[in-house]
Amino acid sequence: MPTVEMERRQVMVIGAGPSGAIAAALLKRKGHDVLMIERQHFPRFSIGESLLSHCLDFVEEAGMLEAVNAAGFQRKNGAAFAWGDQYSAFDFGDTFTNGKPTTFQVQRADFDKLLADQAELQGVDVRYGEAIVSADFSLPKPQLDVLREDGSQYRVEADFVLDASGYGRVLPRLLDLEAPSNFPVRQAVFTHVEDCIDSPAFDREKILITTHPTQRDIWFWTIPFSNGRCSVGVVAAAEHFEGRTENLDDCLRGFIAETPSLAGVLNNAVWDTPARTIGGYSANVKTLHGPGFALLGNAAEFLDPVFSSGVTIAMRSASMAAGVLHRQLQGESVDWQTEFAEPLKRGVNTFRCYVEGWYAGTFQDVIFYQGGTAEIRRMISSILAGYAWDERNPFVSEPKRRLRMISDLCAQDPT
Ligand SMILES: Cc1cc2nc3c(=O)[nH]c(=O)nc-3n(C[C@H](O)[C@H](O)[C@H](O)COP(=O)(O)OP(=O)(O)OC[C@H]3O[C@@H](n4cnc5c(N)ncnc54)[C@H](O)[C@@H]3O)c2cc1C
Repeated sequence: MPTVEMERRQVMVIGAGPSGAIAAALLKRKGHDVLMIERQHFPRFSIGESLLSHCLDFVEEAGMLEAVNAAGFQRKNGAAFAWGDQYSAFDFGDTFTNGKPTTFQVQRADFDKLLADQAELQGVDVRYGEAIVSADFSLPKPQLDVLREDGSQYRVEADFVLDASGYGRVLPRLLDLEAPSNFPVRQAVFTHVEDCIDSPAFDREKILITTHPTQRDIWFWTIPFSNGRCSVGVVAAAEHFEGRTENLDDCLRGFIAETPSLAGVLNNAVWDTPARTIGGYSANVKTLHGPGFALLGNAAEFLDPVFSSGVTIAMRSASMAAGVLHRQLQGESVDWQTEFAEPLKRGVNTFRCYVEGWYAGTFQDVIFYQGGTAEIRRMISSILAGYAWDERNPFVSEPKRRLRMISDLCAQDPT
């Protein structure tokens, strides 16, 4: 038997996306030894380009805000929604929770590279082009096998493993932790265009979410970047793609052509990049932690893209896990369930309630309702800005009841 090359480390992070980079940097800043292994080479394409205000709180905590501010990304100050001739805009500067008034819309290839580089600058050991291929958690300390691009392998023994592998879902697959999502299978088709938008009414500082005129569970994102380009995508349940062309560019443009307000916005766009697709992305797990590991970001649960909450949840999970793990590594006794999984889930479940309401149409009614008070709009705006863990906000502490109350009000007063 050939001897296996063995390395001993304190913390191992799988994946260098937003959750991995933030967790790795936070732990390094607290004085721990951190190895982060990434399968791909950066910059690499990733979807998820519209950020929420709350995610910048974690970028700041990880000492990366200055670099992100200086990178020239498109500033974002809110979210706008359009359906037929209805339009409703929410301002992140006017929220119930006193958070950051602006955030960014980012090309993820650049953003993720910047975060990973910042983590490396802070002393995290980052390795690209290497993939975790197996894991053994039955030993006193976890051991993981890493495959290099030249086909060679080595083993890492770590005190603790944070799985930030996103859609790779490394530990959920290897440890049989996968659980089905409650959401139906949906698919997104998207591209980047030279947008050439000349409409003065179009606000480049907001994501535009447009609902299909007749099928309200089909929606589009338009995410402007600072270089005159836009990310454009459609999201629909799998059955809405049946009978449509398999050519992704034609499929996307077909959906847009059915939606006059969006077709108007993109009238002059130059479609210069082949469309891509991703489907069945909603996922869940049986547990967020176990002896020697915790799951971060999309490696744990992914809900739905509609409120751009993915990167914020990923970074929030990274920050919370880094805090608990730091205390554990210092010899304190910690409870991952009550200090990490349960509080994290509370905010995720708030988003879940509004995602369900979005597809049922009730939350869309609330969004377009113009008769509510300014205070109610501020509470909703707060959630859209990512502050879904602030239990002082009644729309966070009792989302189902509040959503029902307001949608009943909208039904009685359809102004
Ligand atoms: C259609 C769509 C639109 C979206 N839009 C938005 C949006 O506008 N805003 C938003 O906030 N979120 C959005 N999201 C969600 C967002 O993409 C994710 O939530 C976010 O990228 C999660 O970050 P992460 O760090 O958990 O994982 P990722 O960003 O996926 O990073 C995981 C990393 O792990 C690496 N990896 C995987 N397997 C291995 C392995 N075996 N070994 C080593 N490395 C590995 C991968 O290469 C990758 O770099 C969207 C999602 C979808 C599907």
